[in-house]
Amino acid sequence: MSDPSVITGAVLVGAEDRLERANFVARNAATGEPLPPVFQEAELQDVEDACRLAAAAFAEFSELAPAIRATFLEQVVAEIAVLGNALIERAMAESGLPRARLEGERGRTLGQLQFFARLVREGAWLDVAIDHALPERAPVPRPDLRRRSVAIGPVAVFGASNFPLAFSVAGGATAAALAAGCPVVVKGHPLHPGTGELVARALRSAVQKCGMPAGVFSYLPGANHQLGGALVSDPRIKAVGFTGSRAGGLALARLASARAEPIPVYAEMSSINPVILFPAAARERGAELGRAYVASLTLGAGQFCTNPGLVLALGDSDPEGFIQAAAAALRECPAQQMLATGIHSAFERGVESLADHAAVQTLARGRTGTGVNQAQAGLFVTDAAAFTGDRVLSNEVFGPASLIVRARTTDEIVHLLEQLEGQLTATLLFDAADEAAVAGLLPALQRKVGRILANGWPTGVEVCHAMVHGGPFPATSDVRATSVGSLAIQRFLRPVCYQNLPDRLLPAVVRDGNPYHVPARIDGVLTLFP
Ligand code: NAP
Repeated sequence: MSDPSVITGAVLVGAEDRLERANFVARNAATGEPLPPVFQEAELQDVEDACRLAAAAFAEFSELAPAIRATFLEQVVAEIAVLGNALIERAMAESGLPRARLEGERGRTLGQLQFFARLVREGAWLDVAIDHALPERAPVPRPDLRRRSVAIGPVAVFGASNFPLAFSVAGGATAAALAAGCPVVVKGHPLHPGTGELVARALRSAVQKCGMPAGVFSYLPGANHQLGGALVSDPRIKAVGFTGSRAGGLALARLASARAEPIPVYAEMSSINPVILFPAAARERGAELGRAYVASLTLGAGQFCTNPGLVLALGDSDPEGFIQAAAAALRECPAQQMLATGIHSAFERGVESLADHAAVQTLARGRTGTGVNQAQAGLFVTDAAAFTGDRVLSNEVFGPASLIVRARTTDEIVHLLEQLEGQLTATLLFDAADEAAVAGLLPALQRKVGRILANGWPTGVEVCHAMVHGGPFPATSDVRATSVGSLAIQRFLRPVCYQNLPDRLLPAVVRDGNPYHVPARIDGVLTLFP
């Protein structure tokens, strides 16, 4: 058997390795040096073949008994775990992220797959409803009606630059799509093709060991828009999962809606995650909160979609302690390695546009660095009128930079929130004396964000049933969805109703005998089967 930790540079189309014309390299994020081997960029023929295989695998894969698909997801966990340190070291080299972060991210990736395996076995996601016939009902009898959720079809997943594991090849979108019964074709992120190949080989090994059809998974590395565009445009792809820039997500959404058969694109794009600091909390523990804010802002060089990029500080002099402590903490922050040159230069442009803005004052800058792509943290301050007067100030600056907006009244904050685009999160920092003001803001916040947090920090997204990692545009392209948590599976499902079919012709999960013991709503009553 071949060594699972060897990276060849191949395109993985179903069970086949394709490596004839290696033509692109990964680079060490810290040095810019090329990392061997040379990779082959997937071509249009690979897209075609991967989609054809995925479509061929769909019928069998989507109708597997829940326990069998759950066992497959658990095998993916085992295969990734076997990669051990080789996976972490490759991811460190390609992303510049530190070992502890990547080990944590691997734990999250494996935990997420296990979470979906449990979900699939338990079966509530099938959303089974049975309304038995009422032949005696007047004036018209009711037919026998049964509903379940079915997989939507093959799914295209775009790996994210900032999460080489948890939002990439076997990350959240892939785990949710496979759990739903959808074959997956991954467009690997060009910044970490080696990490991607290792995980892709682990996934393919699970496909083979569990006897799944080969087209359940393909991996297409590459660094060009044509490849991703062709994948989204392929008529056999039925949904898209994406994490990245607003421009990228919107380009893919446009392609998807221009197809002869438009399909949903679940893109997570841009969010500045407002934090609202209330006066009593600011007076009582402003300095402590200011330091904690900088810790959250600079975590992982600020390269998180939930990074606190905006603080709305309420009151006259109340936020002073917070602001001064945050500025002092930020000045001490060492420069941090960013993921890549493109992301670092976008960060520098964003910081420059804040620093050069006439209505913005630079509060503090972190330390400068000497290496490649080192981010110098930045903290800026303005007032509510200036912020609402210029949309540029609410643009996401991806990295360790944040803007504090002073507001005198809650009305100013409500007005500001109404102007703000959709967000993944909003954070409320308050004490008991602030609660009336907090209650006044909740309705405006609920209209804007997917998750509201009290007295915490938005970085850190728990994988659980209640989690929502989504929100109105441009946080995501579909306000109804989340990309983390059990609800994420819904993106890749659709409901089907069966009317008056004899029991023997029905899919197993909606038969009277309930052979898989899944929860079902029977004649309106939610029923759990042990
Ligand atoms: P990106 O440029 O959007 O790329 C993400 C993926 O989408 C890549 O695989 C890319 O492939 C593909 N893609 C992008 N535009 C495309 C198009 N028009 N047609 C087809 N495929 C396309 O994101 P990124 O490389 O991760 O980072 C760039 C910026 O995105 C960052 O500076 C940051 O501002 C933002 N970002 C935000 C978040 C967040 O969570 N909010 C996360 C990551 C990045 P190719 O390049 O190979 O075509």
